[in-house]
Amino acid sequence: MSMKNAYLLSVMDNLKAKNAHEPEFLQAVEEVLESLEPVVEADPRYERLNVIGRMVEPERVVMFRIPWVDDSGKVQVNRGYRVQFNSAIGPYKGGLRLHPSVNLSVIKFLGFEQVFKNSLTTLPMGGGKGGSDFDPKGKSDGEVMRFCQSFMTELQRHIGPDTDVPAGDIGVGAREIGFLFGQYKKIRNEFTGVLTGKGLSYGGSLARTEATGFGLCYFADAQLRDNGQSFAGRRVVISGSGNVAIYANQKCTQLGGRVVAMSDSNGYIVDENGIDYKVIQEIKEVKRERIRTYLDYVPSAKYVEGCSGIWTVPCDIAMPCATQNEIGEVSAKTLIANGCIGVFEGANMPSTPAAIAAYQAAGILFSPAKASNAGGVATSGLEMSQNSERLSWTFEEVDAKLKGIMEGIYAACAAAAEKYGMKGNIQAGANIAGFLKVADAMLWQGI
Ligand code: NDP
Repeated sequence: MSMKNAYLLSVMDNLKAKNAHEPEFLQAVEEVLESLEPVVEADPRYERLNVIGRMVEPERVVMFRIPWVDDSGKVQVNRGYRVQFNSAIGPYKGGLRLHPSVNLSVIKFLGFEQVFKNSLTTLPMGGGKGGSDFDPKGKSDGEVMRFCQSFMTELQRHIGPDTDVPAGDIGVGAREIGFLFGQYKKIRNEFTGVLTGKGLSYGGSLARTEATGFGLCYFADAQLRDNGQSFAGRRVVISGSGNVAIYANQKCTQLGGRVVAMSDSNGYIVDENGIDYKVIQEIKEVKRERIRTYLDYVPSAKYVEGCSGIWTVPCDIAMPCATQNEIGEVSAKTLIANGCIGVFEGANMPSTPAAIAAYQAAGILFSPAKASNAGGVATSGLEMSQNSERLSWTFEEVDAKLKGIMEGIYAACAAAAEKYGMKGNIQAGANIAGFLKVADAMLWQGI
């Protein structure tokens, strides 16, 4: 740990003592606190009023039982979570994740990150996150529906359009949001914008599906251009093949990049001619199949079993868009040795601290998730605005706003980094810029 400030060290020590069994959460907090040293040292109020100590403790954690009946008539039980982390600047906002790896540590890390990310969007949204250890893979539509209904039967007590507005994340796409919304409406007898990522026929926003992937590329493009580079003619590797990865592929291809590899949790494909996002969309969104079936569409491509090997595929630009800690030190060093000029994070916390240290030592470009994947929640914020005024904006309108927001976030991160003596360090800039707005609101609102 490189932190030296006594106040921050004491907050971190206290957090470690209380949450020793939550490694992802501690990792996410430590990464932010390290960047905040110059800020805390410049303004004594943050220590005097223990702003950081308050920020690392969620306002509320809800953990509950989700019973549901599978297709064979057996009763299954999963565990549900909603962590309402910080509401200083708006209602809690953040996705729901359905994946067997979900536990309290994972949801708390995601909720903590979300606070800073939402602040960076400039929209009035607090931070929260939720989910369950339910695995949608291999389940029938009926099983997924019954699970979502049971999940919402409890969750509905804790959320609302002015309280907490969940959205999708890993394992939660249009199908799941539809089932969750249907159950909320049935129980509450209200048609409101309580969830984002909704279908277009019932209040969803155009461009929300594409937003995280497009936003990632708008951010990366801004950072590349600021450093005299661009996507044009670049080899790009994108991990994952879900919502973020598919639309990151579409936009970076439009910007002149060539996506040579993508993955799922079983393995990765390599196609030197460039992977067409529409084929991945067909495999993943329509057929819900594994990525190896890409070879049925493009027999000249290669499939390799095991997902972590994707970072050995030589590329100029890497965009991790699958899950947390997917790039460790070895993968980071392999990317650098192969000539990678930049890593732009689409997934949340996909790089381990050792990987980030390797990028920094090599001087390659790096965009942290909380800045470069903020386009999804920003567009969710735009969906909330449209729901409030009961209007729908055009795709072009939403996309233009998204692009403006992402360019604005890049500029804010770059400016904050420079102001605090870390020019070019977008990671530190994102943490500082995200922190300042939330901290200011907390100071105004008292204890
Ligand atoms: P999806 O469920 O649509 O896709 C996830 C993809 O990542 C799939 O290809 C999945 O493979 C792969 N994956 C998931 N978990 C693992 C794992 N443990 N190991 C290897 N591969 C894995 O999710 P999203 O695209 O929505 O989310 C991807 C990342 O982006 C997450 O970190 C999420 O928090 C983040 N994010 C998403 C936003 C959104 O708007 N959707 C907004 C901001 C961030 P498989 O199918 O085999 O499981």
